[in-house]
Amino acid sequence: MNCPKCGKEMKPGFLQTGNLVAFNKTRHKLSLNPKDKDDVMIAQKAFTGSDFNGWICKECGLVAFDYTNVITHW
Ligand SMILES: [Zn+2]
Repeated sequence: MNCPKCGKEMKPGFLQTGNLVAFNKTRHKLSLNPKDKDDVMIAQKAFTGSDFNGWICKECGLVAFDYTNVITHW
């Protein structure tokens, strides 16, 4: 996969997260819970965290991952 920002080859890997990960349209100060229809709660696990297949561009710092396919934690 090539980086959509700079066009260089991205390296495959895993985005590994902690308890909560959210992608919100605006920055939420207190809670990561969705407020807008475009907000996405990507991962919400009390104890384990969540992992995703992803790609990283070390040239410009972009990370891409598929948030709909959570890898089951071991
Ligand atoms: Zn890039």
